[in-house]
Amino acid sequence: MKIAVIGGGVSGLAAAISAAQNNNAVTIFEKNSKVLKKLLLTGNGKCNYFNEDQDISHYHTTSNIAINQIINPNNISKVKDFWDTLGVIPFIKNGYYYPYSENAHSIKSLLVNKASSLNIKIITDSEVTSITKEKDVFHITANNYNGDFDKVIITTGSYAYPQTGSTGFGYDIAKNFKHTIMPVNPSLVQLVTNLGIEDKWSGVRCHGRVTDLTTGKTEFGEIQFTNYGISGICIFNISRDISIRVSLQQESSIMLNLVPWYSGNNFSDYLEKRAQAIESNSIIELCETFINYKLLIAICSYRHIDSHKRWPELSNREKVEFCQSLTNLEIPIVGTKDYNSAQVCSGGINLAELNLATLESKLVKNLYFCGEILDLDGDCGGYNLTIAILTGILAGASC
Ligand SMILES: Cc1cc2nc3c(=O)[nH]c(=O)nc-3n(C[C@H](O)[C@H](O)[C@H](O)COP(=O)(O)OP(=O)(O)OC[C@H]3O[C@@H](n4cnc5c(N)ncnc54)[C@H](O)[C@@H]3O)c2cc1C
Repeated sequence: MKIAVIGGGVSGLAAAISAAQNNNAVTIFEKNSKVLKKLLLTGNGKCNYFNEDQDISHYHTTSNIAINQIINPNNISKVKDFWDTLGVIPFIKNGYYYPYSENAHSIKSLLVNKASSLNIKIITDSEVTSITKEKDVFHITANNYNGDFDKVIITTGSYAYPQTGSTGFGYDIAKNFKHTIMPVNPSLVQLVTNLGIEDKWSGVRCHGRVTDLTTGKTEFGEIQFTNYGISGICIFNISRDISIRVSLQQESSIMLNLVPWYSGNNFSDYLEKRAQAIESNSIIELCETFINYKLLIAICSYRHIDSHKRWPELSNREKVEFCQSLTNLEIPIVGTKDYNSAQVCSGGINLAELNLATLESKLVKNLYFCGEILDLDGDCGGYNLTIAILTGILAGASC
């Protein structure tokens, strides 16, 4: 069989490798001058490709399907086997898998070498502009190619990080073939705030707990304060639902606990005792060993509290507000950063229109969709590369 894979990302390579292992003649079309551009950015260049914790709650879809039809132990073991067979030696940190080299280039080399050993043809600088089907044959037109194929696997990604080539082309093709696209929104993305103190807290990083006040979803980790709002992996992991609400013009607020180490229930009492026990000339000095002083100054400014005052000089109202700001700082979210900054997208090809064992379209025989173009996304932590690999393997292996 002649198989065309549209898109040379991780999912495209996985699909092509699996299809070629079934003795098919496989061609990958990639519009960039090289394949796997996005892979090189993953995990800050270290490529977090898998996670030990495969609880289904790390995966999300808006399609009306049972997610365990795709994400289940049997399929996840196929992903592990794929990486093992490829020859990746893992470096595992708190359950997060990276190549031992901690270098995404090393994964790219393994994938490209495997493709080459299977005689997969990779045509780069080749932007596919149309895919049509007549009788049983797909006709592919690219800027530098025209030809016919028996099967087509579309792995062109979403709108996230379009600078890597994923500009949503596959959605248009899917629509041409009468597929439904579930609403697409940026996900794993920074949150935008408008408290008027963003310039003051910009550059601060601290560990804290963040809660989406609408869903109650809570994450712990490093929070990065920036001149537009807040970022960090724990923020990314609550951004999905917030981004969807933003698109629906619904309000969203988050709550920050900046003193997650404090397990008591009266932080004011704690500060009262601390103020008696240690010498400090201001509330900033009182707290700066556990909260960055720039963040404290920003919070005081937001609450209209004079940060030069000593703890005993605060009014009762100021003490309550100061403590609340450290334990339960409520922040309205006014937006998210756009697709240029989002690691992935929520939404995509409606999974109910695909055979979930093979990712073949139920509407068009021999047409497949895999990777981020699907209405399937994961949390930060290797889950999205797992989706890309798994769906690629399922599609390729069924060809
Ligand atoms: C900065 C960043 C960091 C990330 N870190 C991680 C991480 O550590 N762990 C993790 O699991 N996930 C991570 N992700 C997410 C993960 O990288 C993606 O989910 C995954 O790479 C998607 O793979 P894909 O093959 O489906 O799509 P893509 O990688 O987007 O590949 C699609 C390919 O199709 C090509 N293409 C598009 N249109 C056409 C066309 N018309 N003709 C020809 N070619 C076309 C594009 O050029 C592109 O190469 C990260 C993402 C980003 C942006």
